[in-house]
Amino acid sequence: MIGLDFFKRDFLLHGDKHLLTAGEALSSGIWIKGEAVRRFEHQWAEYCGTKYSLGVGNGLDAIELGLQALGIGDGDEVITTAMTAFATTLAIINRGAIPIFADIDPETCCINVESIGKCLTKRTKAVLAVHLYGRPLEVDDISAFCRSNSIEFIEDCAQSHGSKSQGVPVGSFGTFSAWSFYPTKNLGALGGDAGALCSNNKELIEKCRALSNYGQDRQYEHNLRGRNSRLDEIHASILCQRLGNLNEWISTRRSIAARYRNEIRNTQITLLRDEEPNTFHSYHQFVVKCPRRDKLKSHLERNGIFSVIHYPIPCHQQKALGINSDVLVRLPNTERHAAECLSLPIHHMMREDEVEIVIRACNSFEANDL
Ligand SMILES: *Cc1c(COP(=O)(O)O)cnc(C)c1O
Repeated sequence: MIGLDFFKRDFLLHGDKHLLTAGEALSSGIWIKGEAVRRFEHQWAEYCGTKYSLGVGNGLDAIELGLQALGIGDGDEVITTAMTAFATTLAIINRGAIPIFADIDPETCCINVESIGKCLTKRTKAVLAVHLYGRPLEVDDISAFCRSNSIEFIEDCAQSHGSKSQGVPVGSFGTFSAWSFYPTKNLGALGGDAGALCSNNKELIEKCRALSNYGQDRQYEHNLRGRNSRLDEIHASILCQRLGNLNEWISTRRSIAARYRNEIRNTQITLLRDEEPNTFHSYHQFVVKCPRRDKLKSHLERNGIFSVIHYPIPCHQQKALGINSDVLVRLPNTERHAAECLSLPIHHMMREDEVEIVIRACNSFEANDL
């Protein structure tokens, strides 16, 4: 099946050097909070165009820690999207804050100032927006909106490693940005979780550093109620190494996306709008829309292609929100997208002949297929 063994191929190609570098990190004798983590934090901040970065356990923790450090919690409202991984919403509700869902633009699948503006109240503390599928948000508009309403702009960058707006990396526009290095992301850790925060605010990063380490500033001195969410030396050393390939991997993703855009020709299948001028889409996902999505998915499967739905149940309809009935709203664009979207295989280990097979299968799909 196309789309199921990309990790195996990645490891065949890069595994030896990753194991070697992990071994070197361990042989230094410092197994936690050592040189590899410091090096990765430095390199990641540089890549994201921010002054500081902090390695943490995963992307969910990165958002939660940042919210906590900003003092966003009980009863505070955070405007966000429901078309995202549930982790985005979970971070808000885990803090005791209330997610207020803005509807998406159906052509970009992202929220924008127009929909965000409708959600603003006196209790709004922040906008937590997602560069969904790797597509850069309208960062200037959203930043300006947040500034003029004295609320924080927070970027969930878990899907947008390497994306840019006007040549500037995403993740450098908000008060802080949260990153995930879950293995499936554009930059993924090997067989484990990892995450990071980026910011130009040193105090904020240092507060998150303490919070991620049981809330201690100095050893055994706990001034904050923190948690345990640290990046480890093994993953940090491997991430440093993989970061060296990231731009090349993204350009492979972009050429696959360009072929899909040029060669998929089927009136049943709608593509999302192309990247806006002056933006750089990193194509974490290549998503199409089809009114008979489930039939398209089975058709692809019969042609040996594995596709995924991002996301079948939007956050505002997830049962985990149940207790909070005041967040149950109708989001027509989001709900329609959830019913029609399908992510085609796209990965830095995908071969040209496989791209060809996907295109042919898309073009041979007929709505009345079994
Ligand atoms: C993956 C993802 C997360 C969560 O990251 P983890 O490292 O899995 O905790 C958060 N937000 C978005 C948009 C994601 O895609």
